[in-house]
Amino acid sequence: MAVNPALASYPRLRAPLPSLLAQYEAYMRANGNPLVVDAPKPLKLSTRVKDALRKHYASPPALLAFLADIRDRGSPDVCPMCGSLKTGTLDHIFPKNIFAEFAIFSRNLVPACDCNSLRRESYKGDGAGERVLHPYFDAVMNQRLLRAGLSSSSGSFQKPIIGLNICIPAGSPFFAAVNYHLENVVLRTQIIEYLECFWPKILRFYSDYFRLPDGNFTRPQLDHAVDEALAVFDRRRSTPNNWDSMLFAGLAVNIQAKTYLEQTIRNLRSGALRPEDI
Ligand SMILES: [Zn+2]
Repeated sequence: MAVNPALASYPRLRAPLPSLLAQYEAYMRANGNPLVVDAPKPLKLSTRVKDALRKHYASPPALLAFLADIRDRGSPDVCPMCGSLKTGTLDHIFPKNIFAEFAIFSRNLVPACDCNSLRRESYKGDGAGERVLHPYFDAVMNQRLLRAGLSSSSGSFQKPIIGLNICIPAGSPFFAAVNYHLENVVLRTQIIEYLECFWPKILRFYSDYFRLPDGNFTRPQLDHAVDEALAVFDRRRSTPNNWDSMLFAGLAVNIQAKTYLEQTIRNLRSGALRPEDI
């Protein structure tokens, strides 16, 4: 791009090219982590260069066709940032308003849903270890990090109070980052509303989710069916940190909620409860 006279930015990228490339290398050395000692700090670039880079992102020339590829094909079924079942945008892990030099840097661009704009420019906090997780570099994202916390409301799980809990131990070196990511990415979405909407469907259409014997079933059989349903959602979305798995993972460890599920299924099977009454 720096040597392409056909681009509107020519020749403004020529002079800063070495520092831009050095910044890309610093990003890779830091594994996309803004908290390591030699993490990239925002480059001092002229306004014209910053504008040129951001403009190339907003209206990519043909040689930046990879931007659309990352957005449309990178992860079409699940958002790698928040775990929702939608994407359609590109998230700049290092925000482009602060780091114009990373506006078109592929390793800084993650396919994402509207959690991208809801996160705004949050990428690190003031406390130790507080930063947004990076799907390309943080292998910890392949582990189960979040699950729903279901609490009874008025003594019942018919409309439970739903929150999100962190699954890894508080002593983990990633705990502060997971917590920052939870607060600044995941909880800014409509995930709680989504889970509140999903829960009654699981009760009402339980046979869509749980493989149970016809007639009677035992509690261990139900426990196993819940674990199996969780494994199915993990496989289907290629990550345990998708919104559906978060609900099933929360159910799997919640004895009271499973007791409510068990009783609801028994009542549905006996006819004491009608699906439309859930
Ligand atoms: Zn998202």
